[in-house]
Amino acid sequence: MAKEEMSGGLFLDSVNVLLHETADTLKLDEKYAGKSIIERIIIPDRIVSFRISLQRDDGSIDVLQAFRVQNNNARGPYKGGIRWHSSVDLEEVRALAALMTLKCAVVGLPLGGAKGGVVLPEGVTYSMPEQERLSRKYVDGLVGNLGAKKDIPAPDVNTNAQVMAWMSDQYGKYTGEAITASFTGKPINMGGSLGRAEATGVGVIMTLEQHALCHDINLGGKTMAVQGFGNVGSHAALRAYSDVGIKVTHVSNEYGCTVNSDKLNIVKLCKWVEENGQDALPNFPGGKPCDCDIVEADVDILCLAALENAVTEKNVGNIKAPLILEGANGPLTAEADRLANEAGKDIIPDILANSGGVTVSYFEMVQNENQDRWTRKDVLARLKLILCDAYDKIEEVAEEYGCTRRQACFLHAVSEVAEASSLRGTQ
Ligand code: NAD
Repeated sequence: MAKEEMSGGLFLDSVNVLLHETADTLKLDEKYAGKSIIERIIIPDRIVSFRISLQRDDGSIDVLQAFRVQNNNARGPYKGGIRWHSSVDLEEVRALAALMTLKCAVVGLPLGGAKGGVVLPEGVTYSMPEQERLSRKYVDGLVGNLGAKKDIPAPDVNTNAQVMAWMSDQYGKYTGEAITASFTGKPINMGGSLGRAEATGVGVIMTLEQHALCHDINLGGKTMAVQGFGNVGSHAALRAYSDVGIKVTHVSNEYGCTVNSDKLNIVKLCKWVEENGQDALPNFPGGKPCDCDIVEADVDILCLAALENAVTEKNVGNIKAPLILEGANGPLTAEADRLANEAGKDIIPDILANSGGVTVSYFEMVQNENQDRWTRKDVLARLKLILCDAYDKIEEVAEEYGCTRRQACFLHAVSEVAEASSLRGTQ
């Protein structure tokens, strides 16, 4: 992706355009006269912007910009991941926080939306001790704004269960409490939920399965390309390969792409990347390295599980897959989305398809609050029920309004948030 395509401004514009269109369709100004409901999603409740001085192992200091955006808590405490990446900027975090508010409403969770980010220097990889210091300093900068009833972070790009463990531990130093529901995506023996690590990727494929069921599509033998092989992409590819019989032929990450036109063995690919690192993905012995732009792969399903703005007006016309499955947040710009719909592409949008992660995060909070422990089977069964219900609801709304699934998600979610905001008064 080109540098300007990574800009959060483009992403935020795409989200805001859709929010304004949704407000017009729902006639929010008439229904909630004088209450400025849509502005309560467009303008975040709170933006915390702070500096982290991170001591490197060699004693030098990296000065980093950090953010937490609390978008809207009309329906419950703020909830959303923390991203560490060189492309993070305030606009990106604002867009992601607004999507979290909507995502929680799409799946009916009693939660609001937030997002956090730290801008990392380009090309730098932090050691484990450096990551631990960064995690603790992030909590130090935000501590008054966090808590199980206020704002509950989770992992996102380049953060994981270990990061949540350090953050949760640091938070506990302030509150004096042992593990609580103040962070989700924690390691299993620190109050994490079984099934959380794979929830987003597995949920992406569960949503696809429900789509197939509703539209009488046999997924067995269909081909799929997966962009991004981190938490979301790897688990989505694994479930598609192991449980659904989809042939995953192309997988890419930031280092390149591996292709096997018969099918990639995803179990072996996961092991290969785990043992050799993300940069080894293109050299997977079970595939061939390829310079292609994976979004152009000649497959039945294109699963986008990397970053936002992967598809713009420049490459959308080259997509061959008839079905686009959004594992990442905002992988299509607003213009690319418009053109893809015009071209007749079937799109399962981000706030529906990747809502499995926040759903199991919510399960983790419920288990923590009740000192309870659910089995993985139970977690995944409950997840499936919620995702299938959400998919069916969105199909119903899309039918009623004669609109795309993404517009239907926004219509349903904004209605829910608007009602809660109105009930709460001026807020
Ligand atoms: P991750 O850091 O685990 O993985 C990101 C992957 O994307 C890596 O394989 C990386 O190499 C790849 N990537 C980065 N730039 C790329 C590029 N230009 N081309 C191809 N691949 C590229 O992150 P993740 O948690 O898997 O998140 C991926 C997306 O899913 C993000 O948009 C995130 O916001 C979204 N998401 C994540 C979760 C979650 O639970 N982790 C939940 C909902 C949505």
